[in-house]
Amino acid sequence: MNSVQKALARYSSILKGEEKPWYHRCRAIPVELAGTETIEEKWKEHDEHVKILKSGESQFPDDKTEFSLLDLKHELANDMAGACIMCERRCGIDRAREAGHCGVMEPRISSEFMHYGEEPELVPSHTIFFSGCTFDCVFCQNWDISTRPGQGERFFSDELARMIDRRAEIAKNTNWVGGDPTSNLPFIIEILGKMEAGTAQVWNSNMYLTEESLRLLDGLIDVYLTDFKFGNNDCASRLCNAEKYWDVITRNHIIARGQAEVIIRHLVLPGHVECCSKPILDWIAGNLGNSVRVNIMSQYRPEHKAFRHPEINRSLEIGEFKDAYEYGFGLGLNLVD
Ligand code: SF4
Repeated sequence: MNSVQKALARYSSILKGEEKPWYHRCRAIPVELAGTETIEEKWKEHDEHVKILKSGESQFPDDKTEFSLLDLKHELANDMAGACIMCERRCGIDRAREAGHCGVMEPRISSEFMHYGEEPELVPSHTIFFSGCTFDCVFCQNWDISTRPGQGERFFSDELARMIDRRAEIAKNTNWVGGDPTSNLPFIIEILGKMEAGTAQVWNSNMYLTEESLRLLDGLIDVYLTDFKFGNNDCASRLCNAEKYWDVITRNHIIARGQAEVIIRHLVLPGHVECCSKPILDWIAGNLGNSVRVNIMSQYRPEHKAFRHPEINRSLEIGEFKDAYEYGFGLGLNLVD
């Protein structure tokens, strides 16, 4: 078995047409609600139906049903947006009335296109960039997208669903990204309910989601394409303004691997090989092993506000990248070449 197959067997089967993406199966699972359920009761129904979906014992035909598990997920996502707890900032505000930390209100698409620069197993990838982000990375390499949540185009969900269906003639997957896609979870689920494409769904994220958001993605997402940046809470707090980073991100990687297949990206930061790269690679080796793909990336540039932070206000040295890459190689990780 080759290294891609080892980590992405189900994804490979979707590409060959031997397996359906999870979201197709999810919307074939009927759910009956009386309409009087509390949020807790809806979550209970949700979790029970996800179990049915994931048990492999589902005998439901592969057709959309009138009210499905996907529709229930959409309802729950809208409930969450009413007092937003989509990411671990847990702003608790009504997103229809005010903006939280990420600044995202109505979903805005900064760009969408066929991406040929992602990992070889993913391209061509239909990449949909949402404006806004739940992080404040001072070195953001996509700051023009992440720091402008109000910019970009407004699409109706049907419109975007049809666009994705058209792109699916060549795309291997739909790649939900930003900024970060988390703030737009209700809209993304709504689109999935309207798509026909049989392509795999990729969640391309900083992984600062809450456990509730991850529960909603269970049964929708085929591949988590994650961004694992920092090897400790201090570096994350200082450079990204994110608290409890290590605790949240390690927790979420375990959950993500339990739900789906995973490709982890790690951008090596200048001067952060010992405090960040090596602890991350050690953690992956100890907790996920070679069941996940790992892309150790070298393309750091001192962008955005990096000039205010002398520790990262320079390019990465080739020796630093080599040190991180060889460390990952030595741990036997399933590395993207
Ligand atoms: S998604 Fe935005 S509004 Fe919601 S909790 Fe996160 S930062 Fe706050």
